[in-house]
Amino acid sequence: MRLILLGPPGAGKGTQAKLLFDRFKIPHISTGDILRDEMRENSDLGQKVAKFVKNGELVPDEIVVEVVTKRLSKPDAQDGFILDGFPRTVNQAEALNQALRKQGIAIDLVLYFETSAEICIKRLSERRICDKCAAIFHLTNMPPKKEGICDYCGGKLYLRDDDRPETVKRRLEVYQNQTASLIDYYKNSGKLRQVDGDLEANKLNSQLLETFAQESLTG
Ligand code: AMP
Repeated sequence: MRLILLGPPGAGKGTQAKLLFDRFKIPHISTGDILRDEMRENSDLGQKVAKFVKNGELVPDEIVVEVVTKRLSKPDAQDGFILDGFPRTVNQAEALNQALRKQGIAIDLVLYFETSAEICIKRLSERRICDKCAAIFHLTNMPPKKEGICDYCGGKLYLRDDDRPETVKRRLEVYQNQTASLIDYYKNSGKLRQVDGDLEANKLNSQLLETFAQESLTG
């Protein structure tokens, strides 16, 4: 199964990608996670992208496209993948098409998480991420068993710098200006299926599984 998860920041794409990974064992490829890892390691790439990520701006297309094509060439991505946070521009979508076409494969579905801005803002401000395994928690909807500590690996939970209110506002604008046009782009290709990103995680997950069943996608 080759999927793209499309939707604004805070739509729950990362949470759903993790649930889908648990069920289908298809790698979850989050460009945001990859870039944050590079920033943590202070690599050349991490240094190059830090100012964009911290300010809620998009990293230039050529950098992200290279990151994704490299990741997609790894053995674990050969039979399927879940792209989370990529593509974010029409240029990136075209580059992805081209890369997949070269390998003789194509995206099966683009799941568009339609989500209200109020819900996105609330989710992002209450979101906490594990600094070791990147697991996602939410202070109200999905709190950790022990405050500030990851349930899975004992790592420390933190609020992403770009989840602070002023940067969230900018990220939502950037989504509207640069990413939302992908909804029509994928609608035109017949690949887009809309799901309700306002739903709580387990209900949304059921909706995704129903969508796969309708499309006869089995993993
Ligand atoms: P995310 O974790 O998907 O919310 O991404 C966090 C940040 O990483 C974004 O605000 C961008 O700065 C950067 N980023 C992630 N994916 C992309 C992409 N496909 N294109 C450009 N920038 C990206």
